[in-house]
Amino acid sequence: MTAYKFDPHSLKAEEFINDEEIRETLAYAEAHKNDFPLIDSILEKARPVKKGKGCVCAGLTHREASVLLACEDKERIARMFDIAEEIKLAFYGNRIVIFAPLYLSNYCVNGCVYCPYHLKNKHIARKKLTQDEVRDEVIALQDMGHKRLAIEAGEDPVNNPIEYILDCINTIYSVKHKNGAIRRVNVNIAATTVENYRRLKEAGIGTYILFQETYHKESYEQLHPTGPKHNYAYHTEAMDRAMEGGIDDVGLGVLFGLELYKYEFAGLIMHAEHLEAVHGVGPHTISVPRIKHADDIDPSAFDNSISDEIFEKITACIRLAVPYTGMIVSTRETEEVRSKLLRCGVSQVSGGSRTSVGGYAGYSPDERPHDTEQFDVSDQRSLDEVVRWLMENGHIPSFCTACYREGRTGDRFMSLCKSGQILNCCHPNALMTLCEYLEDYASPETKRIGLEVIDRELARIPNEKVREIAREHIEAIRNDNARDFRF
Ligand code: SAM
Repeated sequence: MTAYKFDPHSLKAEEFINDEEIRETLAYAEAHKNDFPLIDSILEKARPVKKGKGCVCAGLTHREASVLLACEDKERIARMFDIAEEIKLAFYGNRIVIFAPLYLSNYCVNGCVYCPYHLKNKHIARKKLTQDEVRDEVIALQDMGHKRLAIEAGEDPVNNPIEYILDCINTIYSVKHKNGAIRRVNVNIAATTVENYRRLKEAGIGTYILFQETYHKESYEQLHPTGPKHNYAYHTEAMDRAMEGGIDDVGLGVLFGLELYKYEFAGLIMHAEHLEAVHGVGPHTISVPRIKHADDIDPSAFDNSISDEIFEKITACIRLAVPYTGMIVSTRETEEVRSKLLRCGVSQVSGGSRTSVGGYAGYSPDERPHDTEQFDVSDQRSLDEVVRWLMENGHIPSFCTACYREGRTGDRFMSLCKSGQILNCCHPNALMTLCEYLEDYASPETKRIGLEVIDRELARIPNEKVREIAREHIEAIRNDNARDFRF
């Protein structure tokens, strides 16, 4: 019998992310970290199992997953990585979805101590894009080859009200430059009201992303000393309001380095369990950002930084616990770390990113404005280099946005994941959008490698009819300048 109130079905932050339950979980994980029979049974449970034409995965509870994270046995950690990759391949194949962030405004009224946009930072240049500037940024992003964006803004009801964000979304979708189009806009803005989430949904957004930063309430309040973001419950319950407002694709994340990683990990998995329990669908994505140097922010001031090895293990354990979620790693990480994470279950990466407001238009590929930047970018390669690197490492870079445009969101997306139809649906979509990229934006060498990849991967489409249609569409993309096919 537990004396505290932990309930994944509750809508109260402190009941679905319960501090005592996390502490008991961590104690249980520590006590069982050398319990190899238990660990082996958890690993077995995590494995994908064939079902009909597809695969299913049981996922893990926050307790089971925490035991794995605590385990220090090298051989078993290697198995965690293998299973993470197995799950990724079972549900997402070898596709990696590509996106870029678009910073709209760095005006912010919050006091987040790890973020240079905090209100007290008086020397950082403040900038908010006009609609003409949004258009210029979108054209620059389209000219790189992007089809999917994550828009970012500080929280400021006067400078960046919801109307401003909605105007920006409309502008972004309206820009049609050459063969370019932004087909999915994900939104990373501060926690807001059900009514505002409804308006975002009506504006046609993809995923609503909000990082929890930390699940540890006391630390959360210290790290967000002032401004609306100080309210832990309002922030933690945001995804429930988003879902109430009709957004069924939501993206979770923790800013690793702020608190003890084992605590954050248990909280994150509990949050996923809560969404599944209440809304019948888990998070569409989970991001794994780590604190970076930025204007007046020194990452060494935070004592919970984690090594690359631990970071990889966390990523693999998230993949085992929440098997159907998309996992995102940004350009905060170096090429080397990103390469490793791609083997631990990551399914989305950003490329060619700028984290400043107005950082794309008017700058050459190696020019980088720093004055309004949110954090340093470690992977500074161009999108073309990222695309080529993915292909050289056996992945298919995908610019696909079909699921959300065909209404396959929330649990409908999860059903597709489990159905085994990915090779007949997502795989051809990835190849067709890659072909668009190669024709319109790639360097000659990337194009050469990409066309070989497409040729090889077309042959893997199991359904003969789908394979034939995909082949015809690819011919039309290459020879007739046709665009935007999708299954
Ligand atoms: N203002 C919004 C909010 O309150 O959630 C959203 C967006 S903010 C532009 C995106 C994310 O960047 C934050 O949620 C935070 O986790 C991350 N971030 C802030 N400062 C960072 C830093 N110094 N290094 C790495 N990531 C950082």
